[in-house]
Amino acid sequence: HHIVEVRDLRHSYPDGTEALRGISFTIHHGESVAVIGANGAGKSTLLLHLNGYLTPTDGNVRIGDTPVIKGTLPEVRRTVGMVFQDPDDQLFMPTVADDVAFGPLNLGLPAGEVERRVTDSLALVGAGHLREKPPYRLSGGEKKRVAIATVLSMSPDILVMDEPTAGLDPFARRQLMGLLREFRHTKIFTSHDLDMVLELCERVIVLREGVVAADGPPREIFRNA
Ligand code: ADP
Ligand code: ADP
Repeated sequence: HHIVEVRDLRHSYPDGTEALRGISFTIHHGESVAVIGANGAGKSTLLLHLNGYLTPTDGNVRIGDTPVIKGTLPEVRRTVGMVFQDPDDQLFMPTVADDVAFGPLNLGLPAGEVERRVTDSLALVGAGHLREKPPYRLSGGEKKRVAIATVLSMSPDILVMDEPTAGLDPFARRQLMGLLREFRHTKIFTSHDLDMVLELCERVIVLREGVVAADGPPREIFRNA
């Protein structure tokens, strides 16, 4: 059964830019999918539809049996964890620990469970030592890792990440790739990091000017590249 279904998805921005011009695909539970393509191909726009940050101009998106529409957003956002391209878009609390606790507290989890999730999620991204720092003091790579922890702490079934290794130093990049390899649930990310795509993904969707230009296993996609 599909965990993600995107059907005939179109997106035009208010200035008339047609960022997505009819996209369709399905993703199975546990699949690891990279969305690649040139700058402006529509990758970020596509990801933002997966948990309802954007509303389709036409077509639709389903997460499991749930249509992504205004009324289902709380449910969709518990299932789909989104790591934005710019970590400043998701860090807004006084300390790192507060930011990572924010999601679990919103779920209404008891204090002990929230604390466990904060500690575990920060440990997973190698950021335990940053927990009492104000996020604005962190380096770009540290912010990125904390942003990922804020999403892991929600235990999402689907992890969606826009350029997760952008701005990371080689050590942090390695560490993140190890973490993502261990993450057993569905993951969907954009990347210009071809080594990462080859190492982590069983499937690559290539976007070109708002349409799917290719969709298949990396070996097939890159054979003629
Ligand atoms: P990618 O992530 O592949 O670089 P994007 O989804 O960011 O592509 O952008 C797709 C197209 O939509 C580009 O032409 C981009 O300039 C345009 N675009 C993105 N965001 C906006 C916006 N807020 N308003 C108008 N055009 C936008
Ligand atoms: P749970 O196992 O109850 O979901 P955890 O605190 O163990 O909660 O994990 C928090 C989140 O991190 C979950 O989304 C889980 O799938 C994910 N996760 C657990 N272990 C790993 C790991 N080794 N690498 C990456 N992600 C992990």
